[in-house]
Amino acid sequence: RAITNQVSWAAAEMADTLTHPFAEPVIRLGVTGLSRAGKTVFITSLVANLMDRGRMPQLTAAASGAITAAYLQPQPDDTVPRFAYETHLGCLTAPAPQWPESTDRISQLRLSLRVQPTGLLAGLSGPRTVHIDIVDYPGEWLLDLALMDQTFAQWSAAALARAKGRPAGDAYITQAQATDPNASLDEGTAQSLAAAFTAHLNASRAAGFSDCTPGRFMLPGELAGSPVLTFAPLQGEKFARNSLGHEFERRFESYKRNIVRPFFRDHFAKIDRQIVLVDVLGAIHAGPAALDDLRGTMAGILGAFRPGRNAFLTRIFQGRRVEKILFAATKADHLHHSQHPQLTAITQAMLRQASDRAGFAGAKTGAMSIAALRTTVEDTVDHAGKPLDVVRGRLLETGKQAAFYPGDLPDDPAHLLSPARAGADKWLDADYSVMRFAPAPLTLRPGDGPPHIRMDKALQFLIGDKL
Ligand code: GDP
Repeated sequence: RAITNQVSWAAAEMADTLTHPFAEPVIRLGVTGLSRAGKTVFITSLVANLMDRGRMPQLTAAASGAITAAYLQPQPDDTVPRFAYETHLGCLTAPAPQWPESTDRISQLRLSLRVQPTGLLAGLSGPRTVHIDIVDYPGEWLLDLALMDQTFAQWSAAALARAKGRPAGDAYITQAQATDPNASLDEGTAQSLAAAFTAHLNASRAAGFSDCTPGRFMLPGELAGSPVLTFAPLQGEKFARNSLGHEFERRFESYKRNIVRPFFRDHFAKIDRQIVLVDVLGAIHAGPAALDDLRGTMAGILGAFRPGRNAFLTRIFQGRRVEKILFAATKADHLHHSQHPQLTAITQAMLRQASDRAGFAGAKTGAMSIAALRTTVEDTVDHAGKPLDVVRGRLLETGKQAAFYPGDLPDDPAHLLSPARAGADKWLDADYSVMRFAPAPLTLRPGDGPPHIRMDKALQFLIGDKL
């Protein structure tokens, strides 16, 4: 059957090329978000749900039957790793499903759709092929854009100010203060400072802080241990020749030139549509400071999509621009649907504030709450004589079934987002917490609805107009 399929595809492609001799449309869809926001699960779910019929009712072209087939093809960029779709799907659909390994580098996948226009246009045009080149990359890399406009001294001052009071930050500051930046370079000292600074970034990330640059320090991949990742912020403006400070300044410039610039030039500047996944629930769980930090990070991310502001970006974009950007709060399956409007409202309010902060204009933006994979079912239980809306799922740690009520999200987002709240210690319900659920096996019965939440609506926003 597979061979027959391939042959019929080849024939269909050939017919397509004959009726449409021009290049087939390609949409480059960027998928980003900070680590653990849900990129890997999102892309796997997106592709699987498009390849399986009838799972995307809110994507107009799917509901109308215009998309007649979805299939994977070799990607156009030979030197970019391929998104390991089959491996990730294998994890999620195994008899004992597991979460796949997260994104730690850029990867790509080409999903091609056969689209047969329906309605008025049906008789006028033949089937088309639309390629969606999905580009998955860590959101941490976007935040590095801020470094492009900064000198080592400026970045150091900001990084040291941020480190104050944050996890493992004071330990780094103490170590840096005990080091003479004008002493001649000693590689052991350099490595020890870089390790302490990286430990601070990782601990901050684990505590829910988002604004942690340089991004590659946390996701080094094959660059781990290389000089370009072996520097750290130091106090001072001018450093003696051959000193530690001088070398750190040189490595910082090398990081910008050899890591940040090529990513933006070769990958980022080619994106047409972008989804930014945000673990809003996780940040709410981590507390006011983390939520405030996430807001700042969203402004930073949005700023990367506004070339006019930054000479480097203006140059690499050459007049092109990202047309649509969707901010999606992920893991909405942790909430009963009666609370989804509140989660969406909080995400929308954060986007609005981020747009204002970044002076954003240009692309069409939107905010939504989604779940790439529903791990829970909804239930209403009796709690102290009153009905309480909960979700039920299997806990990742213990494997036991549990009912979960995360606390009430406020109807008015200002309750969480006003500046006065940022310093608050007490936050929502005292018992507000996030549980980690195991991925649920796909055992849907008719009427259960799709195995995701609003993935189709997200896709309609992002590429619906192109199908
Ligand atoms: P990445 O680092 O952005 O690639 O994040 P992943 O896609 O690997 O997701 C990180 C973790 O978030 C997963 O291991 C899951 O625990 C959780 N997660 C991601 N998507 C969902 C979802 O749709 N529902 C739920 N309940 N959890 C999710």
